[in-house]
Amino acid sequence: MGFVIVGGGMAADAAVRGIRSASPDAPITILSGERHPPYDRPPLSKGLWRGFAEERIWRGTEQLDVTLLLNRRGVEIDRDRRLVVDDSGEKHPYDGLLLATGGAPIRLPGDPEGVHYFRTLDDYRSLKEGVEEGHAVAVVGGGFIGTELASVLLDFGCRVSLYFLEGGPLAGILPSARSQSLLQRFRERGVETFPGTFVRSIRRVRGSWMLDCDGARGAGPFDHVVAGLGIRPSVELALAAGLEVGDGIEVDEAFRTSDPRIFAAGDVASFPFPVLGERFRVEHEDHANQSGVMAGRAMAGRPEPYDHLPFFYSEVLGVGYEALGRTDPEMELVEVEKGERAVLYYREGGRVKGVLCWNLHGRMGDARTILRKEGELSPEELRERILPL
Ligand SMILES: Cc1cc2nc3c(=O)[nH]c(=O)nc-3n(C[C@H](O)[C@H](O)[C@H](O)COP(=O)(O)OP(=O)(O)OC[C@H]3O[C@@H](n4cnc5c(N)ncnc54)[C@H](O)[C@@H]3O)c2cc1C
Repeated sequence: MGFVIVGGGMAADAAVRGIRSASPDAPITILSGERHPPYDRPPLSKGLWRGFAEERIWRGTEQLDVTLLLNRRGVEIDRDRRLVVDDSGEKHPYDGLLLATGGAPIRLPGDPEGVHYFRTLDDYRSLKEGVEEGHAVAVVGGGFIGTELASVLLDFGCRVSLYFLEGGPLAGILPSARSQSLLQRFRERGVETFPGTFVRSIRRVRGSWMLDCDGARGAGPFDHVVAGLGIRPSVELALAAGLEVGDGIEVDEAFRTSDPRIFAAGDVASFPFPVLGERFRVEHEDHANQSGVMAGRAMAGRPEPYDHLPFFYSEVLGVGYEALGRTDPEMELVEVEKGERAVLYYREGGRVKGVLCWNLHGRMGDARTILRKEGELSPEELRERILPL
């Protein structure tokens, strides 16, 4: 019978590699909702706008001796008979099943047709083909995707307006002062910013877009509207199959769901993390890759506890940042700065639970050591770590 993977993204590809490392010949079938084989998503909102060639995003999953069924969605799991039914009616029996269904973008009120969401290669192509230098673009959302897209569209020569609910960009991870200085930076670069603004509805008027907002002045006309409002984990299949679902599909430390034959990995999985004593769901590349491999190995009979602390990275207006752990600005913060660079430690109960490096790369190893072994360093001791360089 072999293995079935539902989902054609980064975690699915990583899981194939995990299975292959333990079981070189097992049959593997992937049901992917996309029309493309698995690819890296991060370049869609960064490198691909700056000359990174599209050929470099492919992960080569199809070369790993798998049956890759594209445009084929899993629609039902029959746990008793151990098979998945796809949207063509075909049944796929399994010894082990992985749900790597990721997440789907949250839609704007009214969900008007023609708004750009940003999750897939086709989303990227559609915006890139439609947008021209000088176009007016409204970006809705001040999180990772919204700020990345506002940056690349600005560099592309668009007139960008950025709308978001919070008081400043990246307010979900940055303390207020840093978020405000990023807001100022956007303004200096000519981006019209609308903090504290709820976009109530969007209308098409004589070929242009108009936004109706609470708390904002002139909202249009725009040539394009791009939304980066976050994702909702795609848990429908798991729910219908009666698996335990909370904020994502609940798994144990080897990515096993409440059914020991079914696993989940990547953005959709909520996993326990003993080092920090909490459950996490992580929507980032490093975790998709690592959890996918671990889930694949566990499916193939080689479970190992996941003690990797996944990091994430992003970039905005030419500044790169990397972080790991819990980076909630409501936590107690210790900030160490040197010029344009900074390290932010997020503490709770006297322990460091998250680290963010601003404009500083290659320090995630040090950050991991602090979280794992030295979490109880005092603010003074933290000043001596990571920075100064
Ligand atoms: C534009 C963009 C930029 C990003 N940049 C960064 C970054 O800079 N740094 C970082 O750390 N992370 C970044 N990420 C996040 C990172 O890409 C994700 O964490 C990662 O893609 C998650 O992988 P996944 O396989 O869990 O889910 P996904 O990649 O979302 O894959 C899920 C797959 O499942 C398929 N699927 C869903 N339901 C079904 C079904 N029922 N049947 C069949 N198939 C189904 C979907 O079609 C999709 O192919 C970015 C994401 C995006 C979209």
